[in-house]
Amino acid sequence: MESYRLLEETCHMALELLGCDLAWLLAVEGEQLHSRALVSAKSSSAADVFLWQLHGKAAQHSSFPLNVNTNLLAYLLLSDELRLNLPISELRYLPDGVRFMRAFGQLRHNYIHILPLYESGTPLGLLVLATDTFADAAHWQQAHFIEVLTAYARTSLQNVRLAISIAAREAQMRADRDFLKRVLDTMGDSLLVLDEEAHIRYVNNRLLLMSGYAREELYGNSVGMLFPAEARETIVRNLQRGGRGTLSFSQQLITRFGRAVPVLMSRATTYSDGVEHTILVLSDLTEQKLREQALERQSERLRILNQAVQALGAAFEQKDVIALLLSAARNVAECQHVQLFLSVPDQADLFEVITEQDLQEPERNTSFVCLEQAAVEQATRQRHSWLEEQASTGHLNLLTLPLTVADHLIGVLEVQAHSESHFSRDEVEFLENLAAAAAAALERASLYQSLKQRANALQQAYDELREAERLKDNLLQSLSHELKTPLHKIIMQLQILDDEMYGSLNDDQHHSLRAALRWSAQLASIVDEIVIVQALSAEDLHFAAIDLERLASQAIRKVRMLAGELQLEITVRLSPHLPPVRGDERHLLTVIEQLLDNAIKFSPEGAQIELSAQQDSADTVVVCVRDHGIGIPTDQLERIFERGYQVEGGITRRFGGVGLGLAMVRRIVEAHNGRVWAESALGEGSAFYVQLPIWT
Ligand code: ADP
Repeated sequence: MESYRLLEETCHMALELLGCDLAWLLAVEGEQLHSRALVSAKSSSAADVFLWQLHGKAAQHSSFPLNVNTNLLAYLLLSDELRLNLPISELRYLPDGVRFMRAFGQLRHNYIHILPLYESGTPLGLLVLATDTFADAAHWQQAHFIEVLTAYARTSLQNVRLAISIAAREAQMRADRDFLKRVLDTMGDSLLVLDEEAHIRYVNNRLLLMSGYAREELYGNSVGMLFPAEARETIVRNLQRGGRGTLSFSQQLITRFGRAVPVLMSRATTYSDGVEHTILVLSDLTEQKLREQALERQSERLRILNQAVQALGAAFEQKDVIALLLSAARNVAECQHVQLFLSVPDQADLFEVITEQDLQEPERNTSFVCLEQAAVEQATRQRHSWLEEQASTGHLNLLTLPLTVADHLIGVLEVQAHSESHFSRDEVEFLENLAAAAAAALERASLYQSLKQRANALQQAYDELREAERLKDNLLQSLSHELKTPLHKIIMQLQILDDEMYGSLNDDQHHSLRAALRWSAQLASIVDEIVIVQALSAEDLHFAAIDLERLASQAIRKVRMLAGELQLEITVRLSPHLPPVRGDERHLLTVIEQLLDNAIKFSPEGAQIELSAQQDSADTVVVCVRDHGIGIPTDQLERIFERGYQVEGGITRRFGGVGLGLAMVRRIVEAHNGRVWAESALGEGSAFYVQLPIWT
């Protein structure tokens, strides 16, 4: 070590100044006394011989324990006594002195001189001098040689000590620095040390890895070179300003090859050598960004899936379901190709192949395949999806999803990922959910389709029926109109004959004529009914204030004979002070007559029939015809007002009927702006109500 040379110089100085034969300097280091310089005036090898003699082996720098009891030098140092001209023969009386006596004797030194070296009471070392002859110690002291030498030796030792401690500190610092560097190089974040100008002074290995630059390409350059051009100036200005903390959560580092790496940027400021340095830490956010993106993608997929499932739930057309399924499958998974094999009804292994392109065509381009029976069976049996490897790339990227409804295979969805990628577990799960929703929607669409077909067929039948009805109505209307005039003419002619206007008739002729008149009148009344039912409207009526009392007695008069034949009693109960109603007398008479007629027809002999009327509101009067006849089933109370409707069941009709009477009643009442309804209990009788507006 360089500083030990100083100690050697001290020894040389002792030899020259004092004329000694040997100078030996030892330094206290820890609990040891180390031999640091040994110079002999006799020969260069003398020192080696001396040490050899002492230790019994070659030792460049020997050391001795700092123990007064076991070591001579320790004893001499710690007794802190300047000893001059100590005869070596006396050494034998001192601890461990014999071997020293021998060693000095070997070099023919007879006297030794001991200079303990202390600094503020602390032992620094020991200078041992030896002479062959008795020295002029008094002269040494007078000339202050001992004093000077002691001071010099002490300073030298202190210097050495200092040098040693500095070296040790330096070594420690170097070790610390190496350690720090290793830490910095192995840390996960990139680190840069910048000077006041934001020039790069140091970077760790991680930054080199991240940026792709070599150290020498970075050192001395502005840190701006690592950032995008547009952000460069601001970043450099901020860094020059100093400070600490996070600079930016979303900065980009541009690598040597132009790739942008997302980084989190934080910094700290340090001072060294009076210069402010900025430590810039860049944490690579690529992983985090990827995770964020994956999360975003995941929630986006969930959103698409959710939307698709909802839309599938609302779709009823097969075409819509398929379009939704194919587009959602494409969006949910990163895929290259999606196609659906849709089972053809009643064809065991025949499937229609549908791709997204097919759906874009105005007319669906249909192509069919026969899936192998084995594949169909596998799809049916294996109710969940399966992945297959693509032979060329070895990636698991062909996903087959059976669409089943209650053990019945209705289709197979095939999704192919991009050739270089493969499906993640999430993607498979999403697609499975989608397939399940689509299977249900397809099933519903096919049910809907068949329902629609049935509804269409029904509608068609109904339309045809309505058309037939319309034709029949037209025919009936024109027929009845055509019949009406000639019929009335026939009746008129028959009446003229019966009135003997063309000559007298005998009884038989009268009898026959009257029968013809009766039948003709009956026919005319049916024709009248038909005309009314088919075509009566308010315009055909002649409205006047009708007194119900008068109307009731007219009606009774008309049916009295018939009722009398059947011993039926008709009672009339009209509330006093009944206001007149607004009506056409002839037609209202027809209404009451018809209701009384029905009551007579459906009553047993001897029963009672009641005709009543009362005011039921401020502006209406209600007329009621009640009988105690066979009654009408409740569910048919409405239908009896339809044309031609007659209650089923073996009713023994006393009089025929064509089912037009009540239809005519309703038509007339409604033309009066009134209302008609019936109440009845089977076997107990019926009541028919006619509500009419009061004449105002
Ligand atoms: P019809 O000429 O057949 O009597 P209507 O239109 O007058 O035709 O009556 C329709 C059907 O309503 C009848 O066939 C009968 O079944 C039922 N009906 C009408 N009035 C009564 C009543 N007073 N009692 C029981 N059934 C009645």
